[in-house]
Amino acid sequence: MHYLLIAATILGMHSFHYRDGRLYCEEVDLAKAAEAFGTPLYIYSAGTILDHYQRLDQALAGLDHLICYAVKANSNRAILHLLAEAGAGFDIVSGGELYRVIRAGGDASKCTFAGVGKSREEIEYALEQQVYSFNIESEAELDYINQIAVAKNLRAAIALRVNPDVVAPTHKYIATGQSENKFGVPLDRVATVYERAAKMPNIIIRGIQMHIGSQITEAAPFVAAIETITPLVGKLKSRYPLEFFSIGGGLGIAYESSIASGRADWWAANRSHPLTISDYANAIVPQLEKMGLRILLEPGRLLVGNAGVLLTRVRYIKETGQKKFAIVDAGMNDLIRPALYGSYHEIVPVKESHASTSKIDIVGPVCESGDFFAQERDMPPLQAGDLLAIMSAGAYGFAMASTYNSRPLPAEALVRGDKVALVRERQVLEDLTRGEVDPKWQQRRP
Ligand SMILES: *Cc1c(COP(=O)(O)O)cnc(C)c1O
Repeated sequence: MHYLLIAATILGMHSFHYRDGRLYCEEVDLAKAAEAFGTPLYIYSAGTILDHYQRLDQALAGLDHLICYAVKANSNRAILHLLAEAGAGFDIVSGGELYRVIRAGGDASKCTFAGVGKSREEIEYALEQQVYSFNIESEAELDYINQIAVAKNLRAAIALRVNPDVVAPTHKYIATGQSENKFGVPLDRVATVYERAAKMPNIIIRGIQMHIGSQITEAAPFVAAIETITPLVGKLKSRYPLEFFSIGGGLGIAYESSIASGRADWWAANRSHPLTISDYANAIVPQLEKMGLRILLEPGRLLVGNAGVLLTRVRYIKETGQKKFAIVDAGMNDLIRPALYGSYHEIVPVKESHASTSKIDIVGPVCESGDFFAQERDMPPLQAGDLLAIMSAGAYGFAMASTYNSRPLPAEALVRGDKVALVRERQVLEDLTRGEVDPKWQQRRP
């Protein structure tokens, strides 16, 4: 058994494990699921998602809190439904996500609406649905939302997203809490913007928010950000009826294993060992308690990242002079994280192997050299037809998939105990051209 899988099972991080030499998700044999639904196939463990949600919920039991799942990490309706049933709220970044939440049975009054570029249509829709809070990212946006609320004779509840200007040690594309990032209102402007908001007839001041980045594996940046913001929160609380403080999301997860890093002591000594939920809670809860506000959290990756894998089948083995490639049926269009962020994903054979390993590149069929899942990876011998599981693909996997190279979107399935169900059909060729129309030229004369 791979160390990752052992360690993950002990830590309760996910429910993927070998049994009698076959990879299972909970009680479901993944080779059988791949046969039933085809590949590439995303498979999610409902048990893992709920387990993560409940651990976080329990770790915060001493606080008045609401976990608002960040929909953008994985927006499949079945997953939203699962979390809505468990009592979650949702952090949304578009009108489309609000629509999905409502379709999944989620409650708009538990939704926070983030994002730097909300459109008129999105604002109108969220006002009609009475979202819990618009998280405002600029003064221009505040003016615009007030204007629309006045026109519709509705009131918009808001929180300012504060940019605390702290360094989050993560990939630069997903660091959001420094002054050079496009997100949030600079600390020194916050008080003035609240003052303006308080005078706007159709604005209700409801909270204050921050989100410093994603895949953060230490508590220190969260603690630093809270420390930075706490005096300001105290001041604002004395002036306005603040109801909540949102600490955002960003908790990192484990993507690596000892096999890949070549260090047997990885779990004992790894400095990038992801923060456990209890470490995170222990670090922040004492400070948050002192705020005396309702606390919102917006985890995305933490809840779903380790709960999903992408199953893919080897199509061809190709050897050139210097290199060996396994060309698989999933591509960067299905899972873009390695190409976009240089991300590492553990890859394991669905049929367990104890054979000695050698280096191989695992690549997709897309016509881009960036279309790889692993380079120079130590893997047991692979053959055409073998099934592989790309681990920790539950967050920012399908959600970022595209049809690039005119490849139909993959299917998604959800496992619950010994049951598995399709939760998104694989696209068919007709889906690819849906919405495309023959040009009906119109002549416009000056
Ligand atoms: C993306 C995002 C999140 C979730 O980030 P994770 O790293 O997936 O937890 C939370 N809040 C906001 C405002 C976001 O943009």
